[in-house]
Order: sequence, then structure tokens, then C-alpha cells
Amino acid sequence: MSLPLATSFFQDTDFIRSAYILAFILFIVGLQNLRTPVTARKGNVIAAVGMAIAVGATLLQPQVGNYGLIALGVAIGTAIGVPAARSVKMTAMPQMVALFNGVGGGAVALIAWSEFRKYGGDYPLDIAIPSLFSAIVGSVSFWGSNIAFAKLQEILPGRPIQLPGQLFINFGLLAIAIVSAIIIATNGTNPQWLFVLGILVAGALLGNLFVLPIGGADMPVVISLLNAFTGLSAAAAGIALGNSALIVAGILVGSSGTILTRLMAQAMNRSIANIFKGGFGGGGTAPAGDGEERPVRSTSPDDVAIQLVYAERVVIVPGYGMAVAQAQHTVRELTKLLEAKGIEVEFAIHPVAGRMPGHMNVLLAEADVPYEQLKEMDEINGDFPRTDVSLVIGANDVVNPAARDVTDSPIYGMPILNVDESGSIIVLKRSMNTGFAGIDNPLFYNEKTALLFGDAKDSISKVVKEVEAL
Ligand code: NDP
Repeated sequence: MSLPLATSFFQDTDFIRSAYILAFILFIVGLQNLRTPVTARKGNVIAAVGMAIAVGATLLQPQVGNYGLIALGVAIGTAIGVPAARSVKMTAMPQMVALFNGVGGGAVALIAWSEFRKYGGDYPLDIAIPSLFSAIVGSVSFWGSNIAFAKLQEILPGRPIQLPGQLFINFGLLAIAIVSAIIIATNGTNPQWLFVLGILVAGALLGNLFVLPIGGADMPVVISLLNAFTGLSAAAAGIALGNSALIVAGILVGSSGTILTRLMAQAMNRSIANIFKGGFGGGGTAPAGDGEERPVRSTSPDDVAIQLVYAERVVIVPGYGMAVAQAQHTVRELTKLLEAKGIEVEFAIHPVAGRMPGHMNVLLAEADVPYEQLKEMDEINGDFPRTDVSLVIGANDVVNPAARDVTDSPIYGMPILNVDESGSIIVLKRSMNTGFAGIDNPLFYNEKTALLFGDAKDSISKVVKEVEAL
């Protein structure tokens, strides 16, 4: 095949369409594999190959434009993205997701701006509508994600930041963006300031003001929703550009983000509207309680070892603190020792334990804990009354009985792991500080509870030594 012939073959519409279809199949198979931690790594690779094919097919199209600029963009993105993704700590992953998601929304908003400039603000309605939609939603997503990042990174305080008449201001900004979009779509040539101020800046302010009032504890839901926004805006940009890869990828991200948002809201028993009304949750560093000293029972590694060794059934409840301490490998060592002594050991996994969906599953899979040993909340909750010892490792909000019993608690109604129904409870933490929701936990004052203070990895290592000696 001579070179021009080969070039025209690869640039043929049918070839490019076929490559896109292959990419879509790989996206869907990749997503399918992401359903369980066992196949998630493979799923990621499959979807990434799909994306590489989609990008390659897009670049083959003759109307693509300046390859030099594209290469520069790819080089800058790779130089920043690869080291950042490689070096990020597991505990900082939610911020990273927020940041990457924001970049997607920002890119979509910039594409919409470039479309506006290409047509001089006078574009056909079938391009104007999706393009303006993607500009507004992309801008909201970019700025909202940046605020979510800043809150999780503790650059901004995690507590809700609210302006008087917040809801009214938000609706006002949304109205400005919609009215500007209607003017741009229906008028002839439009001035650039209208697009910049009416769409991009109004969207930016809305993104900031929409996320600022939401407390840190609700941030995972926000990130998931912003992820859905980015997907929808990318799909709309795909419609405007006539690019089916962008449409399909955007719809997949939009729909999976929406499903995840619903599932997380259900896991906290909050309506999505209630979460976005804001005002819930704090930074989580305040000491527990209302200032009134209540006695707690502290324990020692040798006492914990004795309790564990004499138990028939132990349930381990991991939380954010296990991730901070990176205690998963030591925990695995402990479970092996207990199992060797004939003790039944299971892990109770709360859907929002840690700082991102699946956080605990990922850490425990990394430590080679068999997947069958990880039990979802609904599966294990009925088994706590027949559990001799619950070992709570750096979990707090997800085992807080106030969510079940105290009607005026901010987390009332959030489903929890009922560890207080087990024979005895051992809680590993460093101090009496609160968890992410920033509220006191009556579990710590329960007469069946003993607290082993210290870094979780340190404490578990000491318990392992004691168990070995028994
Ligand atoms: P929490 O944040 O409620 O509690 C973590 C506990 O770990 C604290 O009691 C802390 O106490 C302890 N801790 C921290 N570091 C260590 C350490 N090195 N060694 C021992 N203990 C430590 O975590 P949960 O997992 O129970 O709950 C998750 C919370 O985060 C929920 O409120 C959820 O809504 C929210 N969230 C969830 C996300 C998700 O998608 N999973 C994302 C973002 C937020 P001390 O400081 O005294 O040691």
C-alpha cells in the first residue's frame, strides 16, 4: 500500500467509526470490570486502551488542526498528571479525583468558548444549544471541583461556608447564565463579553457558591455529582462537535456519576436535595463532646490480645484511621494469626468508610485480604449480636450509634455498622477527636467499649506481638 493510500484508508470515515465502536465496547467492558475490586485493575486498563483508541481515531481526522499545539498540550498534561497520580497517597485520592474531574469540566468549557469564537457568536441552533449547555455545566464543574479539592486538602475550612440568602443568589446566577445562553442562541452576532460574563463567569461563581456551603462530610457525594456534571457537559460538547466518542464517553461518565451519587446519598440516608442545601458536617478535628468530661475505658495491647484470642468470632471494622496509619498489612498479619487459632474473622465494610467509595476494599485488597472475607454493611449487620469482639480500627462516624438513636443528631438516619450489638468493642484511635462529621460518638462511652489509644499501625503491631506470645 502506498503512503497516500494508507493515509486515506486510516482517515476513511468507516475506519474511524469502526475504531470508535471498538473504543465504546472497551469502555463498557472496562466499566463492567470495575464492579468488583478483583477485576477493577483490569477494568481500568481495558477502558484506558479504549480511550487511547478513541483519541487516536480523533487525531486521524483531517480537520483536527494544529498537531504541534496538541502535542504540547499532551506533553504538559503528561508531565503534570503522571507524577501526580503516581505519588498521590491513598488518603489524598478524593482530592485528586476532584482535581482531575475539574480539569475535564474546564476543558469542556474552553471548547465551548472556542466554538463561540469560531462562529463569531452566531451559530446554528443545533450547535449553540449543546455548546452553551456544556459551557455553563463545564464551568460550574471546574470551579465546584476546585472548591471540593481545597476543602479536602484543608486549604479551605471543611465546615460549611454560607452567605445570607445563598439559595437566592445561586438561583440568580443560574438565571443569568440561562438568559445569557438564550440571548446568544437566538440573536445574531454576539459580543464576546456576553459569553465570558454571562456564561463562564456566572457558571464559575455558581460552582464556587454551590460547593462552599457543603460540609466536608458530604464532599464525596459532591465530587460524584460534579463528576456526573462533567460527563454530561462532555456529552453535550460531543453533540456540538459531532464527535460520537465524546458523546458516548460523556454519557457513561454522566450516568455512572449519577448512579454513584444516588447510592452514596442512600448510604448516608440523606436526600440529594438535603445534601446540596448544605450546612452539614465539619472539619473533624474538634475534640468530642460538649465540654463535659465523660469517662472512657482505655485498654492495653496485652488485654486486647487476650480478648481476641479467647473469642470465637471477631469482626474488624476499618475506617479512615486505618488508611492514615497504613495499617492494612499489619491488620492482615493479625487476622492470619487469629485464623490459625481457629477464630472466625470477618471485615465489616461501610459504604462510606474512609474518604472515597471503595477506600477500604482497595486497601485490604492491597494487603491480600481475601475478597470473601469483606462483608458489606447489610450483609454483616445482622451478625453483630453473635460476634464476641468488634475491633474498630480508625472508624468513627460509620459506627456512631447517634445516627440510629439520636433524632437531632446531624447524622441521624445514616445507616451504620451496629458494632454496639457485639459482645465487646475495642476502638483504636489516637485521641478523643471526632471523625469527619465533627460530632461526638456515644459508642466510646459504652460500658462494653475499651479504647486502645495510639497510631493504629503501632497498636496493631503491639497486639500482634502479644498474640504471638500467647
Ligand atoms: P471518620 O473520619 O469518622 O473517623 C476516623 C477516625 O480515625 C477518627 O476517630 C480518628 O481519631 C481516627 N484516626 C485517624 N488517624 C488515625 C491513626 N493514624 N491511627 C488510629 N486512628 C486514627 O472515619 P470513618 O471511616 O468512620 O467515616 C468516614 C467519614 O468520612 C464519614 O463521615 C463519611 O461520610 C466521610 N467521607 C466519606 C467518604 C467516602 O467516600 N468514603 C469521602 C469523604 C468523606 P483520632 O484523630 O483520635 O485518631
